[in-house]
Parts: sequence; structure tokens; C-alpha cells
Amino acid sequence: MTMSKSRNRRTAAVLAIVCLTTALGLPATAQAAGPDGRSTGRCTSGAPGIGDPYYPNYGNGGYQVRKYDLDVTYDPATDVLDGVAGIKASATKSLCSFNLDLVGMTVRSIEVNGVRARWSRTEHELTVIPKSPIERGKFEVKVRYDGVPHEFVLQLPGFELRTGFMATPDGATVAGQPEVAAGWFPVNDHPLDKAQYSFDVTVPKGYEVAANGFLTGRETRRGWTTYEWDAREPMASYLATIDIGFWDVHKWRTNTGLPVYDAVDSAITGGLRSVIDSSLARQGEVLDVLGGAFGPYPFSTVGAIVDNQDDLFFALETQTRPVYSKLFWLDADGNPVNGDSVVVHELAHQWFGDKIALARWQDIWLNEGFATYAEWLWAEHEGQATPQEMFRATYDAIPADDPFWDVVIGDPTVEFLFDDPVYVRGAMTLQALRNEVGDDDFWRIVRRWAAQRDGHGTTSEFIALAERISGQQLDKFFDVWLFTGEKPASPDAAASASRAAAASTDDKASDDKASDFARQWLANTSERLKRGRR
Ligand SMILES: [Zn+2]
Repeated sequence: MTMSKSRNRRTAAVLAIVCLTTALGLPATAQAAGPDGRSTGRCTSGAPGIGDPYYPNYGNGGYQVRKYDLDVTYDPATDVLDGVAGIKASATKSLCSFNLDLVGMTVRSIEVNGVRARWSRTEHELTVIPKSPIERGKFEVKVRYDGVPHEFVLQLPGFELRTGFMATPDGATVAGQPEVAAGWFPVNDHPLDKAQYSFDVTVPKGYEVAANGFLTGRETRRGWTTYEWDAREPMASYLATIDIGFWDVHKWRTNTGLPVYDAVDSAITGGLRSVIDSSLARQGEVLDVLGGAFGPYPFSTVGAIVDNQDDLFFALETQTRPVYSKLFWLDADGNPVNGDSVVVHELAHQWFGDKIALARWQDIWLNEGFATYAEWLWAEHEGQATPQEMFRATYDAIPADDPFWDVVIGDPTVEFLFDDPVYVRGAMTLQALRNEVGDDDFWRIVRRWAAQRDGHGTTSEFIALAERISGQQLDKFFDVWLFTGEKPASPDAAASASRAAAASTDDKASDDKASDFARQWLANTSERLKRGRR
């Protein structure tokens, strides 16, 4: 995820929506398993949470989802979504009841293995009670539901973001982190439970739908068009997106043959459109640079969704097809600017965040640190500054008494989950590691991490991998960078003198140019940094 530096210009509008949404009520606490929470000895209740310490009621226990077949009809005139969610799952034990996450919407009926089931609800939990217990192994659920999808508000230090299933004047944008999915379909809502998705989205004729994966069908009947999208590569729930509007679609292939599907709101024109198109045209080049560093791109398609939504203040790494705020391509005065780095950031997340997903939200620095580090790699590719120069300039620019250093990025708390240090200190941690273990071992660590089979990773697993590959004891190093709320001692002192010397440039002119660029990069994130100083 990346927050737009321009978001302040629309604070008033955002706040108005925040008040509305808050009035509807957000889940306060985890709820008990459900009315029937009994254990008969033969079967037990599934858990209402998957065990995330930061979000106890996110996800659920007792089963894993293999596939969501989401068949939804959305009418932009009323914002009402009419849905049938087919869920193919596997029970890890015999279940008398189990939970799904669903916020808002009205449930009309539920079937488990084709038999009508009872259910009960709290603000966040939908507890399903099948007529007879579910045996360990495969089972299927069908939930019919409707209503106006629930938006979420992401509370950040000092400000709030509109997220979730967001109605727009010409359709809808679906993006949010950590919450979005439970606002529009019943789901095991935690990145620990990845699944396949298929989306059949029906909209009034003329509207178009962009989503994850591949567009596999489109059919118009009686004034409504159904778009079929297929996303077979396992995906965390918050990365699922369906975006409804009027799109200029550009289908093309990168020079390596990867299919690209870009959807840019046709209302975005002129100079802004030019800079957006120019960034999107470089996606193949971005993937070449990132692939050279991280290993092969992990998915079978790529692309972008850019809506003309004035109060979308972030970009999100929705799998295979990030959703971008147009504001990344506008400066504070509303003039079009180069926005390549946000594309680099979100595409880097395809490796770090999407392919290697979080097992618990507190490890978010693993996503954001790598995605920010990718921006530094891109700066090097562009001849602007090396990662070491970015690191050095950032380190020098933020004094030791700045609250920026207070955030313990390895355990940032829910409040500071998306605060700047998670991004910036996260990237610094990676460059500091590179200085500590040397280039060869660093890139070996990164590539091995990106290639993990099971698709999840924790901070302690990352540390263990770094130690295994480097042969060094790195507890103290990671303790300083990830788990201490202080500015680390001079990084050059910590690094081997020869490596630091090799990493820095002797050339005075390029030194000045790099410093200027690094200062500019910091200036562009200054608003975020200021928030860290509130
Ligand atoms: Zn990000």
C-alpha cells in the first residue's frame, strides 16, 4: 500500500464520509464463537479468529478456503450489491459450526453441502450452523446476500482513509488494507488463508468491470452485462478487487510475453492521462528491473486499475492488478508529475506481500520495507541515486530525537501499522542488512525469501534465513533495526568499512546529484514524516 502525499487537499470530504461510516459502527471486539458454541465431543465450533494478535477477529479457525466463486450484481444507481458467494473449503476438524467474516449486508440464505443451514451474526462474524456436523475434509458453502457494501475507515496516526468497497460517481473501487473483503462478501478474511477466486460481476450495460487475473468472458442480456474474471493464483482476501466504471482498456504484452491488462478511467484525460499512460507503459521495464533483483515475476498476468476517484488517497497491491489513486501523478498544485515510483512500489508488492504474504499483520515491514526498497532500486536504474545514497541521505536527514525513530517497526502496534517508519525504516533495514552481510549474501537472501514455496513468511523466519545464508549471528543487528525505538548508531560504523567505501561513490558531481534526488524523495514523503512527528 502507498499513501498519496496529496491526500490533504480532500480532507474535508474524507472526514464527512468517516463520520457517516463510523455511525454505522465498526466491530469493537472479537465475539464468542456463536450461539451454539458447544462442543459435543464429536464436533467443535470453529474459531471466530485465525489467531492474529493485532486483529483477534480477522479470519477464522477450523477450515481453509480453496476457492471463492463470487457471483455479484452491482447497480451503481443504488449502490446495492446482490451476491451469491460459493465457497469451497476444507475443514481441519469436524465442525458443529464455523465462522465467516462479514460486515454489513443482509444474509438471505445459507447452504452447507446443499443443505439449508442456520446462522447468527455479530458486527464482524457470521456464524454458520449446518444441519449436521461438517466432517473433516472438503465442504461447500453457498451464501445468498445483498445490501449496500460496507466501507471501512483506515485509522492512521493523525488522519483517516476511506477504504473498502467504495461507491464512486460512475461505479465502484474496491481496495483496502487490512480490511476490505468482509465488506462485500463472506470470507475467511486474513492473508494466512489464501484462495483462488472467480468473479462473475453483473453491471448495467455500458459499465465495465476490471478485476484480478484474466477476463474470461463477457455477456450482455436484457440490459445487463456479466464480466467473468478468473484469478487462479492463490490470493489473500484483501487483494481481491472488482472495479466498476468506464475504462479505457489497454491489453498488451511485455517484452517477455507477460500479458498486461490496464484499465484507466476514461474520464482521466489531458496531461494527467499522459503521465499515467507513460508510467504504465514502463511496467515491463519495471518488472525487468525487479525480476533481476528478486527473481522471476510470480504471476501470469499484470496490469493496473486507475480510477478517477477524487477521494482515493492510496494505491494498493491488489494481486496482478494494483489499484492506483490518480493523485500519485499530480503534485500539490494539481500539475501532472512523473509517478513511476508508485508503480514500482505496487509491482514490488507482487513479490513481497502478494506471493509471500503476511502470516500476521505485525510483520507488515516485510511488505512495505521491500516495496520501498524497490523504489530505491528503481532510482538507481534511473541513474538518480544508489540505495546506499538513499539510505545515507535518509539516515542523515532524520535527527535522533525525531519521533520517527520511536516506532518499533517489527511490532508497530495497530495504530502505527502503516506509519512512515514501517516503510522508510523498513527499506533502511534492508540496506543496512546489505551492508552487514555484503551484496552476494544479501541478494541470495532476498531471492530465497521471494521463492518460498508456502507463500507466507514472518519476521523471525526472515531473520533465520538471513543468518543461515550469511552464516552470521544477526540477532543484535535486527534487534537494533526492528525492535528498538531509537535511531540506530551510525550505520557506517556498523558496516564493514570496505563495503561502505565500495558502496559510496568517489565522484563529487554524482554525489551532489544523488543527494539532491534523495532530498527530493524525502521531501515527497515529508508529509508522512511530519505525521510521524505529531
Ligand atoms: Zn506498500
